[in-house]
Amino acid sequence: MSTIDWSNLAFGYIKTDYNVRCYYRNGAWGELETSQREDISLHMAATCLHYGQEAFEGLKAFRGRDGKIRIFRLDENAKRMQSSCRGIMMAEVPEALFKQAVLKVVKLNEKFVPPYESGASLYIRPLIIGTSAQVGVKPAGEYLFLIFVTPVGPYFKGGFQTTPFVVTRDFDRAAALGTGTYKIGGNYAASLVPGDRAHKQGYSNVFYLDSKEKKYIDECGAANFFGIKNNTYITPKSSSVLPSITNKSLMVLAEELGLKVERREIPLEELDSFEEAGACGTAAVISPIERIDDPDKNKTYLFAKDGKPGPICQKLYDRLRAIQYGDEADTHNWITIVE
Ligand SMILES: *Cc1c(COP(=O)(O)O)cnc(C)c1O
Repeated sequence: MSTIDWSNLAFGYIKTDYNVRCYYRNGAWGELETSQREDISLHMAATCLHYGQEAFEGLKAFRGRDGKIRIFRLDENAKRMQSSCRGIMMAEVPEALFKQAVLKVVKLNEKFVPPYESGASLYIRPLIIGTSAQVGVKPAGEYLFLIFVTPVGPYFKGGFQTTPFVVTRDFDRAAALGTGTYKIGGNYAASLVPGDRAHKQGYSNVFYLDSKEKKYIDECGAANFFGIKNNTYITPKSSSVLPSITNKSLMVLAEELGLKVERREIPLEELDSFEEAGACGTAAVISPIERIDDPDKNKTYLFAKDGKPGPICQKLYDRLRAIQYGDEADTHNWITIVE
C-alpha cells in the first residue's frame, strides 16, 4: 500500500482489496456479495463471450482537501447502465442496487482513494455480463453485475494540455441506428483498429463523422465533442453518440458561465468557425483539442497554439474539477459523500 506513488499513477489496473458482485438468477437479483478474488468463473457458452452481452460504466471517487470521499453523479451512471442493459436485452440493475454497490466497494477500498494533493482519483468500473449458456443468438437468463475499483493518476501529467485528432471516413464507431448510445464492449472493439492507426500517426484519437452521411461531427475517440464560438457551447445531436455525463454537466456549467448551449447537428466544415474545441469524458473531464486534421481533404482545423487550452475550456475544466474535489459548493446535488 505505502508503495503506491499517487502522482505517478497511470490509467491502468492496480489491485485493490475488494470487489462487489451480485447475481441475477430466476428473474431476480440476489444479495450483494463482497469478494477478494480478481477472477470470475464463467460457463464457456456464456452470452457475454459469444454475443457481446456486456455493458460497463466508468465513474470516479475523489478525496477532498477535507479528507472526505466524493462520488460524482452516480445516479446518472446507474440510469445509463440501465439504458445499456435495455439496449442489448440484459437484466437491468436497479438504481438502488447500483448505488449501494458503488458506495460499498469504495468504502471497502477507502485506503486506495488517492490523497487530494496528488490530483489522482479512484476509478470505479461497474460491469454487467450475460453468464448463462446459450448457443442460439438469444439473451442469457442469468447475469453477473460486479464493480471493481482502481486508483488512477491525473490525466494531464504535465498540466492541462491540448492534443491533435484526425478525421476518419474509413471507419465508424457505431452505426446510425446501432448501439452507439449504449456503453457496451462491442462499440469499443469496433474502435480499436481506427484508434490504433490514429495513435501510430501521432494523434490522440480518431475524430468520427456520422456513419450515414459522413457530414456531421459524431465523437472524438471514446469522448464527446464540444466546440465554442460566439459565446456558445455547441455539442452534436446524433443517434450514435454515447450520452456523456461529463458533457451533460459541462452544458449546465456553460450556462452558468453565461454561454448559450446548443445541441444540434454540426457539419464538419463548421469547425472552421470554432474558437475552441474539446473532447469530454470522465477520464480527462476535458481534453482540449489542439487541431483536427482531415488528411482526405488536405485540411487542418486549428484551435490552439503551443498546447495552451482556450479560456472557456480552462474555466469549464477548473469549475467541474473544483466541484468534484469539493473545493466549490455542490449546488446541483451532483456529489455523494461516502460516509
Ligand atoms: C464513456 C464514454 C463517454 C464519456 O462519458 P462520461 O459519462 O462523460 O464519462 C463518451 N463517449 C463514449 C463512446 C463513451 O464510452
